Amino acid sequence: MRAFSYLRPDSVAEAIEAVAGDPDAVFLGGGTNLVDLMRLGVAAPVRVVDVSGLSTSIADDDSGGLRIGAGVRNSDLAADLRIRRRYPALSQALLSGASGQLRNMATLGGNLLQRTRCLYFQDTSKPCNKRQSGTGCPARTGIHRDLGVLGVSESCIATHPSDMAVALAALDAVVVVAGPDRSRRLGLDEFYRQPGDDPMRDNTLSRGELITSVELPPPSALLGRSGYRKARDRASYAFAVGSVAAAITVRDGTVQDVRLAFGAVAPRPWRARRAEELIRGGVAGRDAFEAALDSEFAAAEPLSGNAFKIPLARNLGVAMLSALAGLETAAGS
Ligand SMILES: Cc1cc2nc3c(=O)[nH]c(=O)nc-3n(C[C@H](O)[C@H](O)[C@H](O)COP(=O)(O)OP(=O)(O)OC[C@H]3O[C@@H](n4cnc5c(N)ncnc54)[C@H](O)[C@@H]3O)c2cc1C
Ligand code: SF4
Repeated sequence: MRAFSYLRPDSVAEAIEAVAGDPDAVFLGGGTNLVDLMRLGVAAPVRVVDVSGLSTSIADDDSGGLRIGAGVRNSDLAADLRIRRRYPALSQALLSGASGQLRNMATLGGNLLQRTRCLYFQDTSKPCNKRQSGTGCPARTGIHRDLGVLGVSESCIATHPSDMAVALAALDAVVVVAGPDRSRRLGLDEFYRQPGDDPMRDNTLSRGELITSVELPPPSALLGRSGYRKARDRASYAFAVGSVAAAITVRDGTVQDVRLAFGAVAPRPWRARRAEELIRGGVAGRDAFEAALDSEFAAAEPLSGNAFKIPLARNLGVAMLSALAGLETAAGS
């Protein structure tokens, strides 16, 4: 690892100023991803600005929702009673990720901005368009079992690895960002970007923009019956091969409302809006859920080694919706 300076500012303004004016400075949350990437030589900041102590509370906001500080640790967020009761998908998603020790360190802001686990991205002896623009994407013809099938491009097929972000997408969370010139509130669809021909940027943040909090909408019967389900290679301490966060309300056999997002299939949490449209207002049944998800995944662009993700994610979605709708017994991850 190369030498770097460490700064722990006392305010958001000081943190933003320290990073905005220095192209070699980065924010640091719990360090569970950034420090690994520094050890691997993938990241080489000259100045590290520790923001983990700046916004660490979970507060009720005026609308009845919650405002979660970007420095809140994943374990504290998962354990918060308001989260567990009002937004169970979020608690379940957090608890399905990493390990207890990692969740004790990882912060909300850092979790949203963790980088892809693509093997080539993490290996500086290999070319990779996301690490160095224009060098190529060896994953397309190489190891891509864990990579994406939706929203990918010729340049990059990486997936976003966060479990938590999938739940936040389904819950319609808003990311609050402060920057040198302005503050912004971004839905997850606006926050993350697809690779196109510029895969080095995972999101729409500009230099110096700091995530200060995430807002959750007011609790509702829909969100209170949400859930998260994750398929992985072993029962714990493994990234998702496919995952789903969902919420659904059914009255007299008809779907009143539905939210659906998938993980580990795309460069960002994949909000399945096409499937939602087809399911909302229709009969609550497995056939309808299957047809809607087939339609959603019709846009997929699989390669030989990751085509299995389409039936995997589709079946996870059908099972999760069926469970939440009371068509099956078990719900959750
Ligand atoms: C062995 C292992 C297993 C794992 N398994 C899973 C898993 O199953 N599921 C899962 O979801 N995750 C998993 N993770 C990833 C883990 O969840 C992330 O490493 C963690 O959430 C990152 O949070 P952090 O606070 O440590 O971020 P950091 O490493 O500190 O930072 C990550 C990035 O965010 C930026 N950043 C941090 N805070 C802010 C802010 N407030 N504003 C702007 N930028 C900011 C940093 O500059 C950096 O680019 C695993 C990690 C490891 C090492
Ligand atoms: S999929 Fe993306 S991250 Fe992986 S090698 Fe290709 S360009 Fe790099």
